[in-house]
Amino acid sequence: AAEEGFDIEDVEGAIEAAGHGPLPVLAVVGRPNVGKSTLVNRMIGRREAVVEDRPGVTRDRVTYEAEWAGRRFKVVDTGGWEQDVLGIDASVAAQAEYAIEAADAVVFVVDAKVGATDTDEAVVRLLRKAGKPVVLCANKVDGPSGEADAAYLWNLGLGEPHPVSALHGRGTGDMLDAVLEVLPDAPEQSFGTAIGGPRRVALIGRPNVGKSSLLNKVAGEERVVVNELAGTTRDPVDEIIELGGKTWKFVDTAGIRKRVHLQQGADYYASLRTAAAVEKAEVAVVLIDASESISVQDQRIISMAVEAGRAMVIAFNKWDTLDEERRYYLEREIETELGQVAWAPRVNVSARTGRHMEKLVPAIETALAGWETRVPTGRLNAFLGELVAAHPHPVRGGKQPRILFGTQAGTKPPRFVLFASGFIEAGYRRFIERRLREEFGFEGTPIHISVRVRE
Ligand code: GDP
Ligand code: GDP
Repeated sequence: AAEEGFDIEDVEGAIEAAGHGPLPVLAVVGRPNVGKSTLVNRMIGRREAVVEDRPGVTRDRVTYEAEWAGRRFKVVDTGGWEQDVLGIDASVAAQAEYAIEAADAVVFVVDAKVGATDTDEAVVRLLRKAGKPVVLCANKVDGPSGEADAAYLWNLGLGEPHPVSALHGRGTGDMLDAVLEVLPDAPEQSFGTAIGGPRRVALIGRPNVGKSSLLNKVAGEERVVVNELAGTTRDPVDEIIELGGKTWKFVDTAGIRKRVHLQQGADYYASLRTAAAVEKAEVAVVLIDASESISVQDQRIISMAVEAGRAMVIAFNKWDTLDEERRYYLEREIETELGQVAWAPRVNVSARTGRHMEKLVPAIETALAGWETRVPTGRLNAFLGELVAAHPHPVRGGKQPRILFGTQAGTKPPRFVLFASGFIEAGYRRFIERRLREEFGFEGTPIHISVRVRE
């Protein structure tokens, strides 16, 4: 490495930065208007504004990447929901429950000026039950005079209330320090490394694509009650299912069960559920209703899985309803709308007739294998050497940037670091990704490529 102009520390640093595994997840929960979104904005450094001016606006985006004191983590913001027909307590509880379920640690935000309400108490009970580490944020303490209000929150029994002004930044640093103390370095869900543990599958897709029907079919019995009303049963959120001779854990199936019958805010809950399921899973099976045009919502759901770095299978459901014409148009739509994820194995299924159910498991296994693929450094560099010789980067400003060497820094999903003598254009990066896929497979997995340029 040194002779190529990189010093060894640069190289090691770059590999370590690129090779990080899945990030731990922090959920920010609390009643509406306590300042959750304002706080999340502080954590993510306002790179993406999450606070909407209009009250009751629903958002799709619920997870963000944040960094504090050199540590990276994901934040799940639950600030985008609306109170629904269940009333405020149930709404807060439902959104908090999803977020807590997916999280490794929780920031519970209380409005110190208002003090603890019954709704806050209800969330405290959920937090106790979940047993995840909690940092209590006493928000809206904009000056020293508010500190006494914060102290009252000791009564919640969650330990020290951290006085914070999310709006002005007062106290947020100390609170984030406390968060880092309880947040594990990697997600607790040890990503299948637990010996013999079942692989975790998230079945996701927009409402009515057939998720509960498919779950029913693969579970082999009518276990899932479609359109179940709120609160009639309390099911475990995950379901262990035998499929193709193996045991799988379908995560967050409670969300699929429509335990909460939603009207207002349904889209937001759906996004939160999808995000929670994706975080907990190793592989996402994205279900699309093949009888309808591929929608923006379908694409957003696919993006959530890709951005989370999960293995992915795309299943086109309701195949029994397709005629020749629709099949023709579907193929065209797939080419134009899903070109970015052409690497995902595809199965055409019918939850109603059971068509091609047996193809689901092989597709999931292919995707997981791609997700875990590791290319030995020697092989990678032999490949890069040939590629660069045969297809050099275009000359720019009289110079020709070159890929000097590379290494795979991590798996799940595969992450590569390439070291170059000059700026590598996006087109050439895409070309490298394409060729990497041709050479090594990576079916069913996103891959990350970062390029370090010699100073
Ligand atoms: P969420 O519904 O919990 O996400 O709450 P928001 O982040 O949308 O904040 C609700 C309102 O409280 C907004 O008008 C914020 O400007 C305000 N707010 C948030 N944090 C603070 C704070 O630390 N001090 C004060 N005075 N107001 C705040
Ligand atoms: P979810 O909201 O994604 O869980 O979707 P559901 O499983 O509740 O299904 C929505 C509707 O689509 C129901 O009326 C199902 O009977 C129907 N459905 C689901 N899968 C299929 C399928 O493969 N073929 C047909 N024709 N209908 C289906």
